Amino acid sequence: MIPLLFAAGTDAGRRRRLNEDAVLASSPVFVIADGMGGHEAGDVASSAVVEAFATLVGRDELTIEAVTACIEDAKRSVDAKGDGRVLGTTLIGAAVTAEGGADYWLIFNIGDSRAYRYSGGTLTQVSVDHSVVQELLEAGSIDDEQARRHPDRNVITRSIGAGGGDVDYWLLPVQPGERLLLCSDGLTGEVPDAQIAQLLEEASSPEAAATALLQAALDAGGHDNVSVIVVDVPGRDDVEPTRPRMVDEIDDSTTPRAGLPVLHGAEGESDA
Ligand code: MG
Repeated sequence: MIPLLFAAGTDAGRRRRLNEDAVLASSPVFVIADGMGGHEAGDVASSAVVEAFATLVGRDELTIEAVTACIEDAKRSVDAKGDGRVLGTTLIGAAVTAEGGADYWLIFNIGDSRAYRYSGGTLTQVSVDHSVVQELLEAGSIDDEQARRHPDRNVITRSIGAGGGDVDYWLLPVQPGERLLLCSDGLTGEVPDAQIAQLLEEASSPEAAATALLQAALDAGGHDNVSVIVVDVPGRDDVEPTRPRMVDEIDDSTTPRAGLPVLHGAEGESDA
């Protein structure tokens, strides 16, 4: 597996007493969970998810099946810890999986935490939010700026625990020189994508990038808990980038971003 450089940070923000985000950053798995519901229960759900993923840390080779099994474990754990309470959490994650002799990022998402890829000077949002404002965006009812200020901007349409719903998956080749960002909505609710791209461009290390992103969210108001994970794939000038490859074990219904392979989700692209 390609050795990765990474850094993570989380902060309660300037308005909230508790930090209900939970973060796991340890090769080959990187996860952020944004717990919700308050009543001192949100952090129970997000912590339960991170604990489930801790079992994958340190493995030399991960399979897609190992990650999806872990997500099922996380769902059961959140349900069990609910004990009658309504717990819920988002989940955004990236795991290095070996497929056909090559390394691929398996990106998985439920809720409105996000995965971005920064490569060749371009920031691409990989995941698609499960949120009311995302649905309004896709319907053309609002634009990006209105989305960031929308009164329902915190309302998600799928989660682990409360509400439920399917997790979406994407498979991306691990490419030398790229920088991956995972974050909770405490970042994207405060900092526009253009500024995120600039900070990722300027930072010379994952640590510097994570610190700058957290600071930007706090400077913009820090209305929510904010968490970031930045992962760098070391550059290898002499290596040809691997080509995207579609895998279709997993069913979902989310429209993929243009140009990004999705696991069995793209209309017209599945073999079902
Ligand atoms: Mg949040």
